[in-house]
Amino acid sequence: MSAPRGDGTREAGGDGPAGALRIAAAVRAGERSARSVVEEALSAVASGDSDLHAFVTVTADAALAAADEVDRAVAEGRDPGPLAGVPVALKDNLCTRGVPTTCASRILEGWRPPYDATVVDRLAAAGAVAVGKTNMDEFAMGSSTENSCFGPTRNPHDRTRVPGGSSGGSAAAVAAGFVPLALGSDTGGSIRQPAALCGVVGMKPTYGLVSRYGLVAFASSLDQIGPFATSVADAAHLLGVIAGHDRADSTSLPDPDPRPDFAASVGRGVEGRRVGLCLELVEGCAPDVVARVRRAAEDLEAAGAEVSEISVPEFRLGLSAYYLIAPAEASSNLARYDGVRYGLRVDGPDVAAMNTATRTAGFGPEVKRRIMLGTYALSAGYYDAYYGKAQRVRTLMVEAFARAYRQVDVLLGATAPSTAFPIGERVDDPLAMYMSDVCTIPSNLAGHPAISVPYGAGDDGLPVGVQVLAPALGEELLFSVAAALEAAAPAGGGPGAAAPVGSGGPEGAGR
Ligand code: GLN
Repeated sequence: MSAPRGDGTREAGGDGPAGALRIAAAVRAGERSARSVVEEALSAVASGDSDLHAFVTVTADAALAAADEVDRAVAEGRDPGPLAGVPVALKDNLCTRGVPTTCASRILEGWRPPYDATVVDRLAAAGAVAVGKTNMDEFAMGSSTENSCFGPTRNPHDRTRVPGGSSGGSAAAVAAGFVPLALGSDTGGSIRQPAALCGVVGMKPTYGLVSRYGLVAFASSLDQIGPFATSVADAAHLLGVIAGHDRADSTSLPDPDPRPDFAASVGRGVEGRRVGLCLELVEGCAPDVVARVRRAAEDLEAAGAEVSEISVPEFRLGLSAYYLIAPAEASSNLARYDGVRYGLRVDGPDVAAMNTATRTAGFGPEVKRRIMLGTYALSAGYYDAYYGKAQRVRTLMVEAFARAYRQVDVLLGATAPSTAFPIGERVDDPLAMYMSDVCTIPSNLAGHPAISVPYGAGDDGLPVGVQVLAPALGEELLFSVAAALEAAAPAGGGPGAAAPVGSGGPEGAGR
């Protein structure tokens, strides 16, 4: 994993010995066997995950079999794929054939999907090896991974703190060095926020770029699958593998011709790029986080970008609109868990009683809260005042972004308002928890891509993430700016700074 360099900047993880690109190159060249790589990942998980709890299921036998298949391809001179032998972790809301997919909910207890998500198929076709399923907030509702029926995941940098959420298990698995790559889903920030809190790269693609087929639905108009990695180059590489049209997802975008080369955009630099430091995306953030974002803006300027400050007041409306639209869609999507079709069933004297008993026992408190909020917002008499108004706000946000992107090419801001908070601190205060996503939600509402890049440590020594936002299908631009940030990032808090696997103790390294 990347080590701090003498000049105060970090080596890109993708070039480090544990980076995905380096592993794939070695496996493809026959210098390392996929089996040895995967065995190493599995033993790191076995020795280090009992206190972190990043994984809820480890698929060791299937992973070793898949690794052997990669090694056979290499031995026989067949192309083993661009991610040959690279261990990956999958958020547990991605369907895996025959392997439990729980969404960290009791209601899916015992359910094994009969098919793989499209992204899972694409990873396998690229030679990547899935080693297991990661912990999350139940049905991806939350910002701390504490809303899991399996109990929380801990932050590898400080085990008394949350890893963020809802894809906290995937972020922690990468930050701890168990796997170089992971997939998560981002509906309101659930990739970028945990990436920031764990000191890794996390990216939400343009809505429709990555197929949602086989992603268990939370809020279908917002959900996107995206990569976690230790470097921008690795994230770009992973996105290249999972992106592209899929006829199984009706919202999947057609493939442009030529197809974008995300990995090639990484080295392009930022000369002449117009970067807008967005005031609403630092407003209300902790002073140490704001200082990091301001430092990032200066560093981009030094690298040749034209940096200005920009105000997009509509961003302040995002959180309220999101917490009507996302629960409304969730209340409809979660109606399918009725005790008949999936997982848990708690019997009752008639069907309605069985439905009620199943849902009462199967859903946790946050999921119930969202179903009630959403049902209320959609109910006759309140629909126009709540759901309808939130949809109109969503249109305002899209227009506000469009105005901003006439002035600048990308926006810069914080990913999360603070560094990782203590486990338990916000569980009884839903509003405080919801505020974690105030900076990430605008991109979801607009369907735009955004990325979080580790940018040194806060006053508490814990990772800070800086967020770059780009217009729809601006992934190449996004990766080029993110790579420039990565090259300039101050030491500390990054992927290499997490406590060594199995070292235990609340005082993570990098403090
Ligand atoms: N924290 C937000 C929520 O609870 C975002 C979740 C997500 O992106 N899946 O809705």
